[in-house]
Amino acid sequence: MNNTIGKAEADSFVPAAPIEITRAATLAPLPRPPYGFGNHFTDHIATLRYTEATGWGEPRIVPFGELSLHPSAAGFQYSQSIFDAFKAHLQPDGSLAMFRPDMHIARLNRSAARMCIPQVEPQMLMELMQRLCDLDRRWAPSDPGSALYIRPTIVATEGFVSLRPARDYLLVVFLSPVGDYFAEGSAPVRILASDEFVRAARGGVGSAKTGGNYAAAMYATRAAVEQGYSQILWLDGVERRYLEEVGSMNIFVKIAGRVRTPPLSDSILAGVTRDTILSILRDSGAAVSEEPIAIDELFEAHAAGTLDEVFGTGTAAIVSPIGRIAYKGKEIQVRDGQRGPTTEWLYHKLLAVQKGKDNDPQGWRVTVPHFG
Ligand SMILES: *Cc1c(COP(=O)(O)O)cnc(C)c1O
Repeated sequence: MNNTIGKAEADSFVPAAPIEITRAATLAPLPRPPYGFGNHFTDHIATLRYTEATGWGEPRIVPFGELSLHPSAAGFQYSQSIFDAFKAHLQPDGSLAMFRPDMHIARLNRSAARMCIPQVEPQMLMELMQRLCDLDRRWAPSDPGSALYIRPTIVATEGFVSLRPARDYLLVVFLSPVGDYFAEGSAPVRILASDEFVRAARGGVGSAKTGGNYAAAMYATRAAVEQGYSQILWLDGVERRYLEEVGSMNIFVKIAGRVRTPPLSDSILAGVTRDTILSILRDSGAAVSEEPIAIDELFEAHAAGTLDEVFGTGTAAIVSPIGRIAYKGKEIQVRDGQRGPTTEWLYHKLLAVQKGKDNDPQGWRVTVPHFG
C-alpha cells in the first residue's frame, strides 16, 4: 500500500481499506465454560499503524502473537496509550451482533484526543473489527451471560526519550471469549469508600480510558481486597464527598424509589453501559436523574430506611449489585445484602437486548457481516 497523503488529508480520508489478512496456520481448540474473564484469546488480532507521513493505515489481520516494541516507546515510558472495550453477542438466529460499537469508537477517539493520539477514522476501525470478529466468530460463546469481548488498544510506538506526543502509533485489537465478570446469582459485593485515595483529579485524565488510571487505582484496591472488600468506591478528589465510580464501573443508587447516578465530569469515565441503563430506565418511565450523591447522604438514607438499591454498571460487569458499603469505620448493608428488583430487572433487560431476545428500537445491535 503506497499511501502518500498528508496528515490533514489522512484525518478525513475514507480509504478503500484493503485489509491484508494472514490466517493462522493452525486454529486453537475452543475453551470450555466457565471462561472466566479475559483468560482466553482467539486465533487472530487486527492492527493499524500510524505514521506522521501516512496517517492511519496498513490494516492487517494476523495470527495471534506477541508484539515487538522499541524499549523507549512512549507507550511504555509515558503511558501514552488508550483502549476501549465492548462485546459482541451470539443472536438466536446464529448471527453475531456487536453492542453499540459506534459509541465505543467515538469514546476511543475522545480518549485519543485527551492523550494527544491522532484520531482514527471510525469506518476504518469498524470494518477492521468486523473482519476480525467474522474471522474468529467460532469463538463467540453461547452460554448465558457470556460474550465475545473486543479490546481495541492504541499505544505510542515511537522510540525517543524527550517529552512530547509520539509520531508513531500501533492500534491492536484482540478478542476474548468471556463469562460474566461477577457470576449471575453471586452475592452482592462489599465495597470500601476511600477517604484516603483518589482515582482521578479535576482537570486530569479520569474520563479517558488510559492505562495510567488503572495503574493508579491498584494500590488502594489491593489494600481494600486484603481487608475483605471487592472494590473501592471512589469519591471526588476535591471535597472527598461525592460518589464517582466503583472499581471500574459507573455507580447507580436508588433512594426512596428514585434512581440516581453522578453527572459526567472529567473525573468520571462516560460508560456506554451507564448511558444504556439511563435510556432503559427513562423509556420504562422510572424516576431517574443524573445528580451528585454525597456519601453522607447514602448513610442517612440507610438510617432512614430509604436506601433501596446500589449497583455498578460496565461492559465487563454488566449490572452488578452492591450489598455493603464501608466508610470511615462504619458499614451499612443495602437490602440485607440481597439483590434488589431494579438491579435484577436491568441485568436481564440489558442481556435480552444484547442477545437479541428483546427488540432493539435504538439500533444498538450491529450485525457482523459474513465477508466470506
Ligand atoms: C470502562 C469503564 C467503565 C464502564 O464503561 P462501559 O462503557 O460501560 O464499559 C466505567 N468506569 C471506568 C473507570 C472504566 O474504565
